[in-house]
Amino acid sequence: MPHDLFAIPQPELEFLAAVQNFSDTEVLPQTRAWEEATAFPDEIWPRMGELGLLSMTLPPAGGGTGLSCRTYCEAVRILAHGDPALAMNIAAVNALVVAHIAAFGTPEQKEKYLAGAAAGTIKLAWGLTEPDAGSDARRVKTVAEPIEDRPGYYQLNGRKMFITNGGKADLIIIIARTGEKELSAFLLETDQPGFTLEKRIHTVGVSASNTVQFALNNAIGWHTPCTFEQATGLLYRGRLGIAAMALGIAEKAHALAIEYSKQREQFNRRLCDMQSVQNMLADSEMEIAAGRLLLAQGAALFDAGESIVLASSMAKLYTSETANRVTNRALQIHGGRGMTREFLVEKLWRDAKLTEIGEGCSEIQRMVIAKQITR
Ligand SMILES: Cc1cc2nc3c(=O)[nH]c(=O)nc-3n(C[C@H](O)[C@H](O)[C@H](O)COP(=O)(O)OP(=O)(O)OC[C@H]3O[C@@H](n4cnc5c(N)ncnc54)[C@H](O)[C@@H]3O)c2cc1C
Repeated sequence: MPHDLFAIPQPELEFLAAVQNFSDTEVLPQTRAWEEATAFPDEIWPRMGELGLLSMTLPPAGGGTGLSCRTYCEAVRILAHGDPALAMNIAAVNALVVAHIAAFGTPEQKEKYLAGAAAGTIKLAWGLTEPDAGSDARRVKTVAEPIEDRPGYYQLNGRKMFITNGGKADLIIIIARTGEKELSAFLLETDQPGFTLEKRIHTVGVSASNTVQFALNNAIGWHTPCTFEQATGLLYRGRLGIAAMALGIAEKAHALAIEYSKQREQFNRRLCDMQSVQNMLADSEMEIAAGRLLLAQGAALFDAGESIVLASSMAKLYTSETANRVTNRALQIHGGRGMTREFLVEKLWRDAKLTEIGEGCSEIQRMVIAKQITR
């Protein structure tokens, strides 16, 4: 186990200070407006490109920021203080799309897409889930058939649902079936007749993130040579990103609850001086601290080149359930006001739910953990 779990080199600390400033001054003030609009403004992507937030998993030689996993998680955590939906998008774009092209893309594909992806001029999404393939991801029915006179290109037919940023994306990674048992991944440009946006999916939280369902009818996909296991193996780092998002939500809600409990008085006492409220605050403080350690452990293992299958599931499971417990307590501490839109805590409570579902539900994380320890 690497012992210095929290070490971050100086240049990365400077990057994180810029992310903090962005989150405080350009994200948090807009979080309600984006939720109401159920969309981010298009300008946010080039702005995040400028900050280096879209290429954290791309090595500098490939034109990226090339940051450690530790710093990637910190950036996602800090963004979640400002807007959890934006943090979720950044986590997915980096871990599942940019990292995919960097790892499995051909030189032509990297040349064509990576600079635009890093700059935010090419908007990205990742498409695995389908109406009949959720937790059981191998059930994907989207079929990919090679196009005879176009080596590397395939015709894709099927339907994808719950795709984050799918309504805005210029380029989507599609996981599709190439044989009875074989699946692989394809780059799909959305600006083509075979791509049909079927519906916008409105969710209880993270609403700004433009989650959609779309159909592929003889759509053209460019093959990125990889197996299903390689493509979905990127989900391990992705889960650390969702854990960071969950931690950020929990920290923000907890801070709001502490502040509120120090100001609000009933029975001639501050809420924070009442034992039931103290118990809630103490439990949240401790669970957040434990979540930080699990996340830092996962990131440190990744940076050391070790397996994070177990560590990423433990970090995601624990922090996501913590985020749900902590936001629930924080809302409770706010009383009736906690249920109103005048207080941010109700939004954090709703946004937290995604972390127990996206990139593998809690039940699936428990299966992964149990399998790892009983091998
Ligand atoms: C807002 C949002 C954004 C998303 N973004 C993306 C995206 O960008 N790209 C993408 O590909 N997908 C995305 N997803 C999909 C997400 O990954 C799936 O929703 C998730 O994996 C669960 O699949 P499902 O919804 O089909 O639930 P199901 O698989 O039908 O599961 C339903 C319930 O059954 C439980 N369950 C299933 N199998 C088992 C089992 N073997 N043992 C015990 N319990 C089990 C589950 O844990 C869950 O509680 C997103 C989802 C949401 C809500």
